[in-house]
Amino acid sequence: MTERPAISPTRQEDFPEWYQQVIAAADLAENSEVRGCMIIKPWGYAIWERMQRELDRRIKAAGHRNAYFPLFIPLSFLEKEAEHVEGFAKECAVVTHHRLEATEGRLVPGAPLAEPLVVRPTSETIIGAAFARWIQSYRDLPLRINQWANVVRWELRPRLFLRTSEFLWQEGHTAHQTAAEAEAEALRMLRLYEGFLREMLALPAIAGEKTPGERFPGAVRTLTLEALVQDRKAIQAGTSHFLGQNFARANGITFLSPEGMREHVWTTSWGVSTRLVGTLIMAHSDDNGLVLPPRVAPCQIVLLPLIRREEERTAIEEACARLAAELAERSYAGEPLRVEIDARPSAGGAKNWEWVKKGVPLRVEIGPREVAAGTLSIGRRDRPPRERLSQSVRQFVAEVEGILTQMQEGYWDRAVAFQKSHTRRIASREEFLEFFTPRDAERPEIHGGFAEIPWSGDAALEEKIREEQKVTIRCIPLDQEPAPGTCPFSGKPGKYRVLFGKAY
Ligand code: AMP
Repeated sequence: MTERPAISPTRQEDFPEWYQQVIAAADLAENSEVRGCMIIKPWGYAIWERMQRELDRRIKAAGHRNAYFPLFIPLSFLEKEAEHVEGFAKECAVVTHHRLEATEGRLVPGAPLAEPLVVRPTSETIIGAAFARWIQSYRDLPLRINQWANVVRWELRPRLFLRTSEFLWQEGHTAHQTAAEAEAEALRMLRLYEGFLREMLALPAIAGEKTPGERFPGAVRTLTLEALVQDRKAIQAGTSHFLGQNFARANGITFLSPEGMREHVWTTSWGVSTRLVGTLIMAHSDDNGLVLPPRVAPCQIVLLPLIRREEERTAIEEACARLAAELAERSYAGEPLRVEIDARPSAGGAKNWEWVKKGVPLRVEIGPREVAAGTLSIGRRDRPPRERLSQSVRQFVAEVEGILTQMQEGYWDRAVAFQKSHTRRIASREEFLEFFTPRDAERPEIHGGFAEIPWSGDAALEEKIREEQKVTIRCIPLDQEPAPGTCPFSGKPGKYRVLFGKAY
């Protein structure tokens, strides 16, 4: 018997709508009254907090310290770097007044500000101004600062988590004595993100460099991590920029070198945002809802007491409490297990489905039968939702760490296999067009993904393909083989291989 899965529509039927429905069913977030701005609900925020905590630990271990800078940036600061102004102008929210006046029961903006303030879209300029004061000599370098904050970019096509007008992120900013040191730092932080995605989120991403047209405004080089999600579209999961001396010159960040010369510093910036939550959902979830790799799950094991008759209550509740206490003593991936008891008085089946949709890795049911036999009925999120594994309490407690490890690795293997099977080396223009334009209506899933082609580096051609095919160069992968071959579009020798894809 085939049943309707919990989420409607399914991924196959309508992927964008499925995504919205998974978010609603798992109670992660909702749209707010302000277009483009979302409300992150407790379960969604708990996932972000898990990411935040682990990233924060890794960033600090890499030698960076947290600080906090203002939300408002004087307009003149943004004007200092020409490309930066150009790139961000259209996305900026601007504060022009500093109070409200009440007239006839209505509130109207009062006094205009002498200088408008921009709500930060990113903080290079205001952090740069502080760096100019903090850095005097080579002894002050390298300077490595990270900020956790919200930023605002007025987005035209918002989508929960993936692209919102206000989003949460961390932005790292560093200053160095030499170009080589700063470039190495930008790469080091990209690799840090890559490791975080792999180990915590079970997400394989391609590390690469953006082409000049896709660079961060004001950057000399933009490095990126590109992930492929289940509708075979690419998501830019994180970026790291080598900013050269552009922001150092704009802000007058100079240092006295060991030789007594005054020189401009070399800077980097890098960030990941709440977009990672959206990427995680699109990469792993299924037609029954959210799927959370155990390392990022706010709760890894939920205990579900199944009490049908009052006289069973005490024995079942005690069994649950004992198990929770035993599990709390165990750890997984270096942290105590995160266990919850769902003691709410609703039907077992409904509660069970709720946790399936929320993506909790393990659901453990304890009813009168289990109490009598000393066993547990275990549901794994990586197996069909009705499948149960029966284990003795002792066996489960002994094996739980291994089960979670197996699940985490299973999600990683599945994501890697997906990425591999949807990355195709392409040698001709026709094959390229066919790859992105499904001809086989019966099997649309065989189309799309990363198209890897030799590229001669022609910017005008890149723009033409973007306009005509709605696909872009996601990145020039850092790992390149010699002799890339001939570019199928220009017929010229390729300088390197690039990955084309449709992007979110
Ligand atoms: P950027 O400063 O433009 O390099 O952006 C840093 C990172 O923030 C990007 O790699 C994205 O992952 C993320 N990001 C950019 N714009 C948005 C947005 N509107 N909503 C959520 N995340 C974003």
